[in-house]
Amino acid sequence: MRPTERDVAGLRCSDVMAELSRYLEGDLAPERSAQIEAHVSECQACADFGKGFARLIEAVRTRLGEPEPVPADVAVRLKAALR
Ligand SMILES: [Zn+2]
Repeated sequence: MRPTERDVAGLRCSDVMAELSRYLEGDLAPERSAQIEAHVSECQACADFGKGFARLIEAVRTRLGEPEPVPADVAVRLKAALR
């Protein structure tokens, strides 16, 4: 067993890693989420990994959520057309 592979709250680190994205999506059963939270609160390696992963997801979401900027000339023509 690798030193980073710990068994905490009935979950191994690899289980946590495997389900982390679903956890962050809120896609897991409440009991499973609670189990992951219990593991992460006891396991520094997963806590660090989870924080980095959550930040990454957040960054991707922020980018995907941004509307495409409208080119300036299109915006001008659009405003003129709507007048
Ligand atoms: Zn862990």
